Amino acid sequence: MRKIIYPGTFDPIHNGHIDIAMRAAKLFDVLEFVVAVNVEKDPLFNVDERLSLIKESTNHIENISVSRFTGLVVDYAKNSDSIAIIRGLRHVSDFEFEFQMAMMNFYLNPDIASLFMMPDEKYIHLNSTIVKDVVKNGGNVSAFVPSCVNDALLSKYSG
Ligand code: ADP
Repeated sequence: MRKIIYPGTFDPIHNGHIDIAMRAAKLFDVLEFVVAVNVEKDPLFNVDERLSLIKESTNHIENISVSRFTGLVVDYAKNSDSIAIIRGLRHVSDFEFEFQMAMMNFYLNPDIASLFMMPDEKYIHLNSTIVKDVVKNGGNVSAFVPSCVNDALLSKYSG
């Protein structure tokens, strides 16, 4: 079974993440979203909320699963019998960090491949921070997030 993991914070999941996941899932038997527990970013949604929003947003895709992780991504990949890590690349600005991370992951475990995909151009400028900022300030992001995420954002910011 060829399995790939998709690690990240996903605070919250948006259509750019889903675009990458759907296309990567076609190339593997299983794609597993793995949600980082120990993030330094002070997320808006706790881990359980982030997991359940991913589950609900991807429940129409049969070979996608969702879990959480702490520690090193390459260790999680190895322990879960995954052969690769998928990451999204939007701009040149993503490249530098992703390149360093991929090199370090290769050093830590050369058996785990790092793969990169660009999203559909309509999601190229999308990120979770901007989605949260727009909703916080009364804007509508329903074109960029699944409806469960839209509802969750509205209820977070409605007090
Ligand atoms: P991070 O992993 O930096 O905490 P995220 O959880 O938002 O950030 O992102 C997880 C993965 O999804 C990363 O590989 C990131 O590059 C990718 N990603 C984020 N936003 C988009 C987007 N709009 N299009 C494609 N990939 C994206």
